[in-house]
Order: sequence, then structure tokens, then C-alpha cells
Amino acid sequence: MTATAAPLDLLLLPSWLVPVEPAGVVLKAHGLGIRDGRIAFIGPREAALKLASKETRELPGMLLSPGLINAHGHAAMSLFRGMADDLPLMTWLEKHIWPAEAKWVDEAFVRDGTDLAIAEQLKGGITCFSDMYFFPKVASDCVHNSGMRAQIAIPILDFPIPGAASADEAIRQGIELFGDLKHHPRIKITFGPHAPYTVCDANLEKIRIIAEELDASIHMHVHETASEVLQAVDQTGERPLARLGRLGLLGPRFQAVHMTQISEDDLALLVESNTSIIHCPESNLKLASGFCPVERLWQAGINVAIGTDGAASNNDLDLLGETRTAAMLAKAVAGSATALDAHRALRMATLNGARAMGLESEIGSLEVGKAADMVAFDLSGLAQQPIYDPVSQLIYATGRDCVKHLWVAGKQLLDDRRLTRMNEPELVASAIEWGRRISGRHE
Ligand SMILES: [Zn+2]
Repeated sequence: MTATAAPLDLLLLPSWLVPVEPAGVVLKAHGLGIRDGRIAFIGPREAALKLASKETRELPGMLLSPGLINAHGHAAMSLFRGMADDLPLMTWLEKHIWPAEAKWVDEAFVRDGTDLAIAEQLKGGITCFSDMYFFPKVASDCVHNSGMRAQIAIPILDFPIPGAASADEAIRQGIELFGDLKHHPRIKITFGPHAPYTVCDANLEKIRIIAEELDASIHMHVHETASEVLQAVDQTGERPLARLGRLGLLGPRFQAVHMTQISEDDLALLVESNTSIIHCPESNLKLASGFCPVERLWQAGINVAIGTDGAASNNDLDLLGETRTAAMLAKAVAGSATALDAHRALRMATLNGARAMGLESEIGSLEVGKAADMVAFDLSGLAQQPIYDPVSQLIYATGRDCVKHLWVAGKQLLDDRRLTRMNEPELVASAIEWGRRISGRHE
């Protein structure tokens, strides 16, 4: 708790304040003050009301928490939502997604798809997301204009992709974008080798060296399915994670997405290297990819964050719903009802995401000095009553339609469920038009 002479820009007085750090705490009758985009005060309501503030807002029936952090996705793929469902991963990728991407993905597609994803995420309580898609410069521009926060991973594959004719060109563009946005307050550029089966050793080696030089993170799909691991072992005798370890990629800067296949050796390697895992339960369920043993990883001390994956494989960017699925699935996989309790699930969707991205000193919890990235959930509806533990209610009984207000770096981007900087009807019309063009319908 701090109090200085300069007035607060905004004082919020919610029914419950859940800081996430310290863990498991729910503060009642407390206020949170913002100054210059940062949290300047957290303390009892009486003390809060004695402070000068330019604006004071009562948030009755609302729970104020750190904004949700969606640690893995492919934002612009929201324009492919529902295009090819109920198919196995490789058929889905090779027969549907990759051909559609070759035909349709250009800068306009990425701009419109990313804007749609940003709007959907803001309305769902997400203040920061991780993106891995083509034309990352365009996605960065969308994030910049929207006021949201994001990690943008530069996609790198051994073959040509929209916007980059080779892996070398993608890497070069990535280094340039990293330099351009090094000091951006809300955008972090990372390197995104797609997966072990689409990037060769030589390119991974280049990425490792560059990431070390720039102190940049690496974001990669790893062990998404059992067949990915089996095929690699068949062809090379080595599991993909072991290969990444041998090449020196694993470490606190490395974000391993999916990890549904984890052997004892894999677990030891993850612990020893302090690698973060991004869990995407609904994408794994829908593509029948397997199960990430979240509770086991958590108990081993591994940082586990959560992501929705792209809307083409999920099919929504609903991180609150995803977190509920994760909490349920963790119990089934561990065979224990105590696995991933509601408070830890919320931590996974906030502070653990920040840690995975190397942003834990900036976001992920409500603490004085951190950026004011926050969401107010309205728990006053009948489906939330009665309330014994508001965090339990949030995770197990609340949908994203209860997201009421949202701030990023102290700027309100959602006010009473309305986007403050984006035009929702225009976004809907644009998505409908893309759907018409892609499906070839002219009605
Ligand atoms: Zn993905």
C-alpha cells in the first residue's frame, strides 16, 4: 500500500479484489488506484476513499482480477473459424488449412482477422495474447492501434510462407521487427519456429543464436500429438524435445506449446531447463491430440500457462472457458479432484502466462507498480448466486458474457461490455464478407 501526494487517475472499488499474488487471496472492501497507467494503490476501502482521485468508480457485485493472458493462438485464423471441423490434425492442416492459407492469406486477411480476434479477446476479459501468424508486422500494427498488449511470434518454417519466401527471410524480417519494437510498451517480439517437424536443425540453430543475442523468447509447438513423437523416433531415434534440448533451445526463454506427450526423460529435461509449457486443452480435445498432464507438471515446479490456440481449431478465443476446461481436464487426467483448483487455474490464466512471456514483473497480478491490466467480472447475476468463494464461482460458474469492464495499461478498452476503440458492427460485417469470399457463396 502506498499513498503519494499526486491524485490518482482512477480509483476502483469492486466487491472483490483478487490480486493472484499473493496466491489464493480474495480482498473484500478494498480499493485499487491507478496513476499513469500503473497500479499505484491497493488497500482497504476507507483508506482508499481518503485519497484524492480524478475519478472514482464503485463496482458493486464485481470481481476485479488481473486481465487474462492468452498464451497461444493464431489471431488471424479467426477468419477460418469453423471452416474444417472434426478432422485429425494432419488432415486438417495439410488438406484444408495450408491450401486455404496459400489461397487467401495476405496483409488484408491478417489485418481483418487479427482485429476480429483482438475484439473477441477484449470482450472475453483478455488483456494480453500471444500470436503466431503470417505478416507479423501487420498483426503488430493491429495490436498497437487497439491498445491491447501482445507477444508476436515470428513464424519460421523450412518452406515458403505468405510474406516470407524462405526461413532466412522470415528470420531477417523478425530481427528487423524486433529492433523496431524493442521499446514498445505493449508489444513483445519473439521467434516462432512452427514445430520440430517443420524446422530443420540448421534453422533451429540460427534461431537459438539470434534469440540469445537479442535476449528474445522462442515460442514453438512441441509434442502436440503422439504420432509426431513416434514419427521422429522412427526416423531419427530421438524424441523432438530431446532434440531441442541437444540443440540448446530449451530454457526459461522457451515456450513449449501443447506437450501432450511427456516421458520421464522429457519431464526431467523440462524441469532442469526451466522451460515453460503452454497448455491448450480444447484444441487438444477437439483434434484428439492427447492430454497434457498439467497437475504433474505443476507439482514438478514447471510453469504452465494456458492458450486457446487459433479459432480454426478450438473454435473460440474464450480463455475463461478454456480455463474451466483445463481445471476439469486436469482432475480427470490426474485421477484426483484436488488437481488444479480454481485459484491455481486463475493463476495459470494470468501470472503464469506473464512468466512464460518474460513479462511477470510487468503484468499477471494486481500489485503496486505493475501495469494496470485488469478485468472486472460481473458476478451479480442469478447463475452466480450464492457466492461462497468468488474465484470458484468465476472459474466453474461464469461465462465470458460476464466480462463487464477491461483496462490495459490503465486505458479502458471495454466499458459496460462495449468496445471503446473498435467498431463492433464493422468487424462483424467484415468477417461475414470474408466468409462469403472464402466459401464462394454469393447470396
Ligand atoms: Zn497453435
